[in-house]
Amino acid sequence: MVDTLNISINKTQNSRLSQVDFNNIPFGRVFSDHMFVADFDGKSWKNLQILPYQPLQLSPANSALHYGQSVFEGMKAYRNEGKDVLVFRPRANFDRLNRSAARMCIPQLPEELFMNGLTELLRLDRDWVPANENTSLYIRPFIFATDDYLGIRPSDTYKFMIFTCPVGAYYSEPVRVKIETQYSRAATGGTGAAKAAGNYAASLLPALKAHQQGYHQLLWTDAKSHQFIEESGTMNVMFIIDDTLITAPTGDTILAGITRDSVLTLAREWGYKVEERKVAVQEVIDAAKEGRLQEAFGTGTAATIAQIKAIGHEEKDYELPAVENREFSNRVLRALDEIKTGKVADKWDWVYKV
Ligand SMILES: *Cc1c(COP(=O)(O)O)cnc(C)c1O
Repeated sequence: MVDTLNISINKTQNSRLSQVDFNNIPFGRVFSDHMFVADFDGKSWKNLQILPYQPLQLSPANSALHYGQSVFEGMKAYRNEGKDVLVFRPRANFDRLNRSAARMCIPQLPEELFMNGLTELLRLDRDWVPANENTSLYIRPFIFATDDYLGIRPSDTYKFMIFTCPVGAYYSEPVRVKIETQYSRAATGGTGAAKAAGNYAASLLPALKAHQQGYHQLLWTDAKSHQFIEESGTMNVMFIIDDTLITAPTGDTILAGITRDSVLTLAREWGYKVEERKVAVQEVIDAAKEGRLQEAFGTGTAATIAQIKAIGHEEKDYELPAVENREFSNRVLRALDEIKTGKVADKWDWVYKV
């Protein structure tokens, strides 16, 4: 057994906190003072430590660099009015990290190791959780292979780490998306349901090409027929057509987003008609043409809700209704913000107080 309470803590002597302009934080470039590390030695997780944030030493033969045995998570912590630090649904991220790990032949992580490492790290760096409206602390847990070996086989050794980044008010401008019918993000039997590093590398070229055509993001379709919409960039995607909220079911090509699940839970609670089923490209295009496509948005931890303002398909752009008039997505964004920051009661037990 791992003694998950036995975390050795080496505090920094030079906090960088005073150098940070909390009114102007670039996303993903400013790192809090400390990081959590644990090592898997082939048998068990050990060597639990919190250290000053610092570079790692890796062998050039590190197998994660060559063959991509690496999985990650993303979640956020917020401050409530009493200045407590609240994390949104961390156990759901823990469960998903282990599902991703299983797919990539990475050993399972004990829940107490994840939760205790997270809790101790956030207690130590609690002053890094920004307090301004719409700001938060982004949390990045990840596991990667550490064998120095060029053979292709599951690594014997791994590192689990967590570090954090304060992030500024996330203003997500409504996006223009292109329905991708050439490249695929995920195929049946592949790794699309895992937050595995290589999935994101594979999406860069198609996204870059869409960018060059004037789109911010892609709408991924199924790899086989390209006739069904699966996700939007690195978010799940939802549509409201004829007053019904529609989204693709999760499965091995669609990542089970925690924001997706939270949005669907609230929609059902509020009495909206919700359908988790295949979403045909043609159905969305027809609805857009006929003025029945009321809302379209991505869901994910970074933005919570990313509004879609136009959809490109076969050389044509379909403009969607004004974002201000979208009843459901604006309401659900507000409601989730209030739950995450402790402003309203959390009856689903989503919020973890550090
Ligand atoms: C992380 C991710 C999501 C969103 O998941 P959340 O838990 O809501 O942040 C959706 N799709 C992909 C491909 C992702 O990597």
